[in-house]
Parts: sequence; C-alpha cells; structure tokens
Amino acid sequence: MGVVVQKYGGTSVADPEKIRAVAERVVSTRKAGSDVVVVVSAMGATTDDLLDLAHQVAAQPSPREMDMLLTAGERISIALLCMALIDLGYEAVSFTGSQAGIVTDTIHGKARILEVKGSRIRAALAEGKIVAVAGFQGVSTSSDITTLGRGGSDTSAVAVAASLEADVCEIYTDVDGVYTADPRSVPSARKLDAITYEEMLELSASGAKVLQVRSVEYARNHGVPIHVRSSFTQAPGTWVVEEAELMEQAIISGVAHDASEAKMTIKAVPDHPGVAARIFTALAGEAINVDMIVQNVSSHGHTDVSFTLPRGDLPTAQPVIESPCAELGAEGFDTEHDIAKVSLVGAGMKTHPGVAAQMFTALARAGVNIEMISTSTIRVSCVIKETDLDRALVAVHDSFRLGEAAPS
Ligand code: ADP
Ligand code: ASP
Ligand code: MG
Repeated sequence: MGVVVQKYGGTSVADPEKIRAVAERVVSTRKAGSDVVVVVSAMGATTDDLLDLAHQVAAQPSPREMDMLLTAGERISIALLCMALIDLGYEAVSFTGSQAGIVTDTIHGKARILEVKGSRIRAALAEGKIVAVAGFQGVSTSSDITTLGRGGSDTSAVAVAASLEADVCEIYTDVDGVYTADPRSVPSARKLDAITYEEMLELSASGAKVLQVRSVEYARNHGVPIHVRSSFTQAPGTWVVEEAELMEQAIISGVAHDASEAKMTIKAVPDHPGVAARIFTALAGEAINVDMIVQNVSSHGHTDVSFTLPRGDLPTAQPVIESPCAELGAEGFDTEHDIAKVSLVGAGMKTHPGVAAQMFTALARAGVNIEMISTSTIRVSCVIKETDLDRALVAVHDSFRLGEAAPS
C-alpha cells in the first residue's frame, strides 16, 4: 500500500469544525487505498498567541523554553485530530516530533532536521493506524525539544514523506495552489499547475510563505513530489516537480515579496581587506541570516556597507555590530525598519536578456525608488520602501503579464 503524507496548515485546523472536516478528508484518502500520515500545524493563530504570551513574561525569552512552549500548539492539534478520527471509527495515533524520531541540530527556533527515524510511524502504519505527527518540531542531538522556524510544518511533512518514501506530500492550505504572486496582494495573480523545485525555492526564499524554503530544499534533495492544494475544495493545486517533468516552461514564474526584513548600513568603514569578513563573521556567529549585501564605491578610503536581515534578528544584531564598528573605526550604523523586497523569479531569465531592465522600468513607471538590487541566475530582487510595496508588486506582475494564461 502506498503512503500519502498530508500536511494541514493553521487555518485548515483553526476550529473544531475544521478539524472534523480534516479528519473526513484523511479518511477518504484512507478509503481510496493509501496509508495516511497527517502532519498538522497549530490551530489558527496559536503560535502567535504563544509568542505573545512569552513576551509578556520575559523581555528576551529563553530560546530553549520558547521551543518548549511553541511545540505545545502542534501537540493540541494532533491530539484533537486523532480524537476526531477515532470518533469516525478509525484507529489513529498521534506522535510529537520527538516521538516520530525527527532529529534536529541544536539551534533553537530554527533547527534543521538531520534525520527522521520514523520507526514508530512505520510500526503504527503496519498496525493499520492513521498517524498524526506534530509539525514544526523535533528533538535535538542533545535531547532538547526544538522548533524548525516559522512555517516549519511544511518541512516536517516533506521530511516524513522522504523517510517513508511516500507517493506524494500534499500541502493543504488556505489558497488552492502556488500563484504568480501572493493572491492577497495581487488580485490578478494566476494559479500555476506546476513549478520546478528550483523556481519554488527562489520564490520561497524571497518571501512566498506558501511553502517554507527548507521544505522545498528538502523535497528537491530527496525527490519528494509536493502537491500544494486547498483544504476547502477538491480542485487540483500546484505540483512542485523536477524541470524534466514540466510540460512547458514559462520565462517568468512569479513575483514574491518580503516585508519582514530590515536594512542596516555601516557608515564610513575603512576600505581595506578583512572588513567584510569581520562584520559578517560577527553576525554569522549569532546565526543571523544576512540576505542582501551592498558595498558602496569607495570614497577617500572609506565605504558604506548595507545589508538586510530578518527584522526579528535586529535586537541580536545591533549589539553584535557595535564591536566590529568600533574596532574598524566606522562612523556608526543606521537601521531602517520600513523596507520591503520584491523579487521576480523565472528559469527563463537564464536565456532571455532584458528581464531585469523590464522590471526596473516597471518600478520606475510606478514611481518606486529602488534602494538595493541583487540577482541570482533565475531571480532579480529589489529593496524598496515598504509603503511602495503593493504598487510595486502590481506594476511588476502586470508588466510581465503574469495574470494571463500561458499561450497554448
Ligand atoms: P498555512 O497556515 O496553511 O501553512 P501559510 O499562511 O503559511 O499557510 O501560507 C499560505 C499563504 O501564503 C497564503 O494565504 C498566501 O497569502 C501566501 N502566499 C504568498 N505567496 C504566495 C503564492 N505565490 N501563491 C500562493 N500563496 C502565497
Ligand atoms: N505553527 C508554526 C507557525 O505558525 C508552524 C507552521 O504552521 O508551519 O509558524
Ligand atoms: Mg505555512
């Protein structure tokens, strides 16, 4: 019997009625002849509420205790889902990440999965049970409970699917697939039937939170087919697959945005070897994910270095930056909170020149100033003011006519 892994996000299990609906959906997959492992997120806004609670008792909550707290959200969901499944007359058993054998490294709050042992999942499936696994969590190599970063249940599901060699990893969410842009920001966005791992990786890394970036990375590395679809309809969604499996390849697959970053600029640092190494080694030492980096042209032996980082990492980054700034003799640093990043992604950029120019033109026509630019072979990203974001997204999306169906 094949195995199907289904992951249900927070909105899909937001209340008891929705949990019962998920249970029915799981049962219908089971009846169709597959073993089912369900990975669930915390109900609705539970994770945000727990985060809030933590900040009400401590200014900087202990990372270990934060993980202990947050994993409670997913634990509630697995227990309730199994109760609903049992009520429908099916045998079901829930496992925390630790019980499922999801082993991670020791970085609290953004742990990486090292291995999925999965022996209890396999044994339960062999006994004919439906298995529910708590998403977003694991146990570290030093036996502490860890979480996998926001949106991490996607990665739990893919990792479990890889371990069980599942036929598919279905990601059920509140939209019916991957769109050419976040449909909440760009109403004319169009659903894609399929997208490559490579492009999805860039979209996710650029802020399209429909799939956590690590889930796409894991799926690509282990060859897990992902099907993103709505938990509220039966309509087929979007398949994330290898390029060779794609029927046709559009030049541009979509636009993503990210309004969760901040920009820091270190002013007037002496321009000599080792400066960038000193600054970014200090940030890396605190596991801060620096995104874009721009070093200005040197003037009178001094230069400005700007970079973007998650806003949530600012309280850690600011003190970390102070000592290299002082050591290097920099003038100081500025922090900008109100920035956003717009990224255009498409495998066709490799062979079609002029894509970046067209994006910059679209932004210019919309009166949007570009503060930073970075590119990969299949992506162009621009940092802009957050207040310009909605206008910028629509301008870029329309310029590449992404809302129109691909010619057949
Ligand atoms: P879940 O709770 O099910 O994990 P998320 O909120 O993490 O759901 O992800 C789904 C959301 O991702 C959608 O509601 C949508 O607003 C957003 N999103 C961003 N970019 C895209 C995109 N390109 N296609 C579809 N959804 C997107
Ligand atoms: N509950 C976690 C979060 O809100 C994990 C997830 O939903 O994927 O980020
Ligand atoms: Mg999510």
